[in-house]
Amino acid sequence: MTIRILPPTGITSRPVPSRVLMGPGPSDMHPRVVAALGRPAIGHLDPAFVEMMEEIKILLRYAFQTENALTFAVSGPGSVGMETCFVNLVEPGDKVIVCRNGVFGGRMIENVQRFGGTAVIVEDTWGEPVDPQKVADALNANPDTKAVAFVHAETSTGAQSDAAALVRLARDKGCLSIVDTVTSLGGTPVLVDAWGADAIYSGSQKCLSCVPGLAPVTFSERAVERLKARRQKVPSWFMDLGLVLEYWSAPGGKRTYHHTAPVNSLFALHESLVMLKDEGLENAWARHRLHHEALKAGFDVLGLKFLVREDARLPQLNAVYVPAGVDEAAVRKQLLDRFSLEIGAGLGPLAGKVWRFGLMGHSARADNVKLCLGALAKVLAGMGLAVDGDAAIAAAQRIYIDTVR
Ligand SMILES: *Cc1c(COP(=O)(O)O)cnc(C)c1O
Repeated sequence: MTIRILPPTGITSRPVPSRVLMGPGPSDMHPRVVAALGRPAIGHLDPAFVEMMEEIKILLRYAFQTENALTFAVSGPGSVGMETCFVNLVEPGDKVIVCRNGVFGGRMIENVQRFGGTAVIVEDTWGEPVDPQKVADALNANPDTKAVAFVHAETSTGAQSDAAALVRLARDKGCLSIVDTVTSLGGTPVLVDAWGADAIYSGSQKCLSCVPGLAPVTFSERAVERLKARRQKVPSWFMDLGLVLEYWSAPGGKRTYHHTAPVNSLFALHESLVMLKDEGLENAWARHRLHHEALKAGFDVLGLKFLVREDARLPQLNAVYVPAGVDEAAVRKQLLDRFSLEIGAGLGPLAGKVWRFGLMGHSARADNVKLCLGALAKVLAGMGLAVDGDAAIAAAQRIYIDTVR
């Protein structure tokens, strides 16, 4: 036997540059999470692993503030969490109201349509929260609606919508709610039971500061009933919750193989959820808000204006307008090349118009905020703008000092 494709030359193990991640995700992983990820793998049916999975479910119920039995982590990124909710709950012919005020609402529409549903689209301007009045009007105009879907924290713009109000509207009409909390979980309040929400998904790499590739998901009893009452098989074998749950929560503990769980990623998720529990949700929310306030104080000095109005602003995702005449991509490139600092670009209609500064999980730290303000000011000054980085850092520092009681 002769091989015809020769070994490639010049490729060896690679060092990875060390970055400060202040974009829309992933966020910096905490060293404890990195250490957990690096533990030797064990079997996905090993009793020690099964015990850890049970703890992940308990920890996720705390993070989501829910008693839902069906709470676990889907093996896949946030997008697979999204798709898991839609593929299990939408059947051909179902009408679903989908709110679009950014990129991710658009992906929800795709999901509904690909699974044979009809999407009734409620549009809001990018940068605005979802308008509950428009959702109420859409529900009145479409009494046969089966579900209402929306993004709680729109990462493409930094706007947070009123999840409690939107879920209530859906419930009052007997509709399920499908809620994207990828960027909110661990950063701003996600109160699944208090909202009365039905199918909620999130992601591991935003405010949980875990490795990318896991999607916490929780389903209410009503959502489970809808799933059981399906007329047709779930059209995805991998995401069919009826099958996945024979591994994640078989009655009587008799788990069977469905797919090989990403065991190391789940070690990491367990660690990040333990850290969130030890910090306490309220403290985690307050920490995100504090660093947002500090960053904002610095941005005010630099003359940068926020895209989103103050009462709908996500502390963990700060979208600000690019100053007139500045080449936004060149700024991001310099921040990465000179300061190893990653920030995000604008998407869709906001491409070229805004930058997105993430303060998610372990990235939300005072040293990051000050590095970011100083580095950004230096890059902008180099492009001829009259900005004072020292004053911006001092303004951020003042917020930190004033917060100490
Ligand atoms: C990041 C994100 C997703 C997708 O998560 P991936 O892990 O990239 O698949 C979905 N929704 C929102 C709001 C997000 O911010």
